[in-house]
Amino acid sequence: MAENKKVDVTIVGGGVAGVTVAIRLAQKGVHVTLIEKNENLVSGPPFCHLHAGGNLYREISDEQCLTLLEQSIDFARFYPFAVDPRPTVIAVPKEDAGSPEALLPRLEKLKADYARLVEEDPANAILGHPEAYYTLYDEETMRKLKKLEPVEHPKTSDEWMIPVARTLDFSTVKFPLILVQEYGLNLFRLGAGATQILEKLPNVTLMTQSVVTNIKEAENGWKIDVEKEGQHVEIAADYLVNAAGFRTGTIDEMAGVTARRMVEFKAAYVCRWESGMQKWPEIIFHGERGTPRGMGQFTPYPGGHFQLHGMTKKITLFEDGLVASAPGLAQPRLPDRLLAKIEKGWSWQTVQSRTEAAIGHLARFLPPFKEAKTAAIPLYGAQQIPGSDPTLRVAEVDFPKKRYARCEIVKVSSAPDMAEAIVKDMQKEGLIELKEPESGRYEHLQLLEEKKLDEEARKFAQSRGYPSDMGGLIAS
Ligand SMILES: Cc1cc2nc3c(=O)[nH]c(=O)nc-3n(C[C@H](O)[C@H](O)[C@H](O)COP(=O)(O)OP(=O)(O)OC[C@H]3O[C@@H](n4cnc5c(N)ncnc54)[C@H](O)[C@@H]3O)c2cc1C
Repeated sequence: MAENKKVDVTIVGGGVAGVTVAIRLAQKGVHVTLIEKNENLVSGPPFCHLHAGGNLYREISDEQCLTLLEQSIDFARFYPFAVDPRPTVIAVPKEDAGSPEALLPRLEKLKADYARLVEEDPANAILGHPEAYYTLYDEETMRKLKKLEPVEHPKTSDEWMIPVARTLDFSTVKFPLILVQEYGLNLFRLGAGATQILEKLPNVTLMTQSVVTNIKEAENGWKIDVEKEGQHVEIAADYLVNAAGFRTGTIDEMAGVTARRMVEFKAAYVCRWESGMQKWPEIIFHGERGTPRGMGQFTPYPGGHFQLHGMTKKITLFEDGLVASAPGLAQPRLPDRLLAKIEKGWSWQTVQSRTEAAIGHLARFLPPFKEAKTAAIPLYGAQQIPGSDPTLRVAEVDFPKKRYARCEIVKVSSAPDMAEAIVKDMQKEGLIELKEPESGRYEHLQLLEEKKLDEEARKFAQSRGYPSDMGGLIAS
């Protein structure tokens, strides 16, 4: 790692944004103090999908989709140990007004852009051969696949499609189905791996169970008040990174800056399906967000576990779950009942009724799935969306004050780009001078002990109240 002992950076928040900046700045030789309120890093809102093309979102621009593709490839190279390389199947239900054909022009653009990225650097080929970026399945092919037995270690697109063909009620969807190389992301592996790396970096100080309570501007930097186990500590920093997730506004308010932003509370549900032990792709059933037919997302984990989203108010979305900041204030206020879910947890009755609603939502298309049972507390949390467009999916960082970076990612794939923008801003401020060879960007991977990762990710899942199986990969 490069050496630059004179510069101290404090990062508030140890979610994906904070840990990515910490790793990147440590590579640049800066001394980093990473402050996280919770016991573990990466314990904020969940993520399960690498949006390598944004194909879940019909409503966003082609431009956002292309950025999501490029950022996802970058993210997968930065955190390869968190990627579950199983594909995603996109289905347009008959009840939906859209058509599969309408999705094809964008898929062609994404395929061409992916081919260009691979040509520029063959190491970008993390989604397989560009020609196989997506594959169409008509009803006749699906009927043929329905007759085949699932394979233990699916490799080809057809092999991944077998469990879908055997379970899907063909009368509920429009053909063709689309299999696209959008992979899974495992948050427990990312948390465990990033913790391993940060603990080994000599110029990173990790402060967990520590809360930033106040911030003051100082000459050429900041003074940060932190409460840790009843003790008060003051930290001096040359540069401050606000990566406090949906609480970014509270740190902004302490630093005396304002911004327009939204915060959204959402949840995904965890169930187990005895008959679902084979290796599944993820399946997306498109639908209009916020209506009873909102998009359904069926995300597989090992051991017959599934994470479910349903973009309706009875499942993933909540009444008053999307709030905006009031004029002059930086922090949007979530209703107390939703904040209480984040801070104190859920009643088991609500967990069960929402999980059962999610199972029912997906079983409309996959009838045998109705046998699935609630397996754990939901994966949930609030996230920030800068500005006033709730469909925004690509957002990174801005610099509202000198030596102050405000991170606002909407999808985790934006995190490495965001870290790069912070490096540039610090270079502009004269705080980072050293140039590094390009390979330096992935240097942190040499610190990872892959053999320990699987066990640590399983323990991490268990410590947060989820089945240990969820720390494993489907495509292993
Ligand atoms: C249900 C759901 C599903 C999602 N699925 C996906 C997906 O599949 N793919 C995807 O890319 N994205 C997904 N997202 C979005 C993704 O979760 C977020 O973009 C991402 O986790 C945000 O990371 P972050 O580091 O910005 O914030 P966080 O993870 O919230 O981290 C901020 C941290 O700051 C800490 N903090 C706050 N205030 C203080 C303070 N004063 N002192 C100390 N620490 C503080 C918090 O404890 C927290 O750990 C999903 C979001 C939800 C809600």
